Amino acid sequence: MKIYSRYAKKYWYSFLLGPFFMVLEACGEFILPYINANIIDKGVAKGDVNYIINNGIIMALLAIAMMITGILGANFSIRGSSRLAAGVRADVFRQIQKLSFENIDDFTTGSLITRITNDITQIQNFAQTLLRGMFRSPVMLIGALIMSFSMNMKLAAIIFLVVPFLALAIFIIIKTASPRYGKMQKAIDGLNNSVGETITNEKVIKSFVREDYEIKKFAKINDELVEKSTSALKVMLFMQPISAFAVNATTLAVVWFAGRPIMIGDMEIGTLTAFITYLSQVLTALNFLANIVLQGTRAAASHRRIVEVMNAKIDLNDDMAQCKDKTVDRGEIEFCSVNFRYFKNNKDNVLENINVHINAGELVGIIGSTGSGKTTLVSLIPRLYDADQGEVLIDGINVKDYAIESLREKVAVVLQKNTLFSGTVAENLRWGNENATDEELVEVAKIAQADSFIQGFPLGYESDIGRGGANLSGGQKQRLCIARALLKKPKIIILDDSTSAVDTVTDASIRKAFREQLGDTTKIIIAQRITSVSDADKIIVLDEGKIVGVGTHNELIKSCMTYQEIYYSQKDKEE
Ligand code: ADP
Repeated sequence: MKIYSRYAKKYWYSFLLGPFFMVLEACGEFILPYINANIIDKGVAKGDVNYIINNGIIMALLAIAMMITGILGANFSIRGSSRLAAGVRADVFRQIQKLSFENIDDFTTGSLITRITNDITQIQNFAQTLLRGMFRSPVMLIGALIMSFSMNMKLAAIIFLVVPFLALAIFIIIKTASPRYGKMQKAIDGLNNSVGETITNEKVIKSFVREDYEIKKFAKINDELVEKSTSALKVMLFMQPISAFAVNATTLAVVWFAGRPIMIGDMEIGTLTAFITYLSQVLTALNFLANIVLQGTRAAASHRRIVEVMNAKIDLNDDMAQCKDKTVDRGEIEFCSVNFRYFKNNKDNVLENINVHINAGELVGIIGSTGSGKTTLVSLIPRLYDADQGEVLIDGINVKDYAIESLREKVAVVLQKNTLFSGTVAENLRWGNENATDEELVEVAKIAQADSFIQGFPLGYESDIGRGGANLSGGQKQRLCIARALLKKPKIIILDDSTSAVDTVTDASIRKAFREQLGDTTKIIIAQRITSVSDADKIIVLDEGKIVGVGTHNELIKSCMTYQEIYYSQKDKEE
């Protein structure tokens, strides 16, 4: 609850004024029927026009005052609940930024999106209803009860026949709806996962002409959401008719039992009208309270999902780091008996007994078939994941002992499919270092062989690259990503198949520039093509998660079977 109370305190005026004005408005609700009864009994019955006009004016003024306080109350409630939701959303977002890849894999991206949007909206709706009704409804309930009992004890007692019936109905509704809400939110997770995957991969879907398949897949998930939400929300449908029945049954009973007193002159028509109004106010207040409880049930399901994120054990942090003040200043890397698997209850390791040493400043190639563990191996260097057994050392210090931020500051990773953002070339490059000068931009772009095509754009470095780099070719995007990473001035740079869309001549020029101008930086290049790594100081060959060879091209071509196989299969294709 602390996540909410912080914001309730911060925006205390809305949280105070919202309910305050709503209670004021409720007070008017008691007075109106009373004046109305008097107009009927004293004004209409006796033909006193002045009385009717005077009291009519009072009624009109009161109605205006109620309208103003009602609007103010609703306004503060909306403001308070929206601010509360915005605050919680920001906190959840901050927490998501801290989550490790493993945490994100566990939650799934779609579920995190639902939690930060739909689930928080449920909390916001509940908070709004709460602010509007939490004091207003009890005040209205008690006030209307007092008024009706003071008018006629016996008749008012009828209400106690209806209350247990209403309470039982609400109890059954809540019991049934509660677990269904959880399932409904889960179905929204599935929908978000599917939409996210489809939209980000729209190009692949189109190129494989798989639109129909995706539409069918989506329809299935969409139907599931319909089923789950219908199942949860239809329970709520019972609430309206049940409370309408309660109001009508009570009114009927009151009219039935009031018939005799009215006939014998014990009760006046105006009093009966007011009495019925008070009783329906009692039931409306009860109805609103029930609604708070029902919405609360829904919000509780969402609350549990938000708390799960906020309390997620971040399995990758630097709380226990021993050398937080140290930075990576050479770039020497050592893997000592490293084992790793993504799913801890899987039997097989994705990386098995990895032992390798990389000197500072070396250019190292990593080669191996798809799925052999190349990406996984390099992700242990900037601690995107942690080794399960063994150690990864940089400059002789375990990666777990650096402050994560300073470690990642010095280890740059360029993925095959990296993301660029809307904006200019320069803005995108400055993601690597926002304070970089124009000269520095040109310098890194030259190393990444991007300068010449950037200069070819009409506005050069100030050219807009479109959404996600839509105006660029695949190879141009990759080169911009390499330049962006270089701007961080890393001590270790990892290219994970990040020149796959670049032609072989440019690819070789990038490596040449890396070798000549980044002498102090350790360079790790994961590649599919052997030609991309054959001039490396050292090549690591991976097969099914194990290192099956380390050496130069000439050494491996003689000693490593896997390397030979890759070499000859690629050579055959070239010929
Ligand atoms: P490579 O880079 O050589 O193609 P990867 O390191 O990407 O290989 O993958 C090695 C193995 O780990 C593969 O079997 C792959 O399916 C699995 N894997 C990769 N990433 C994940 C992940 N995030 N969750 C679960 N398994 C994964």
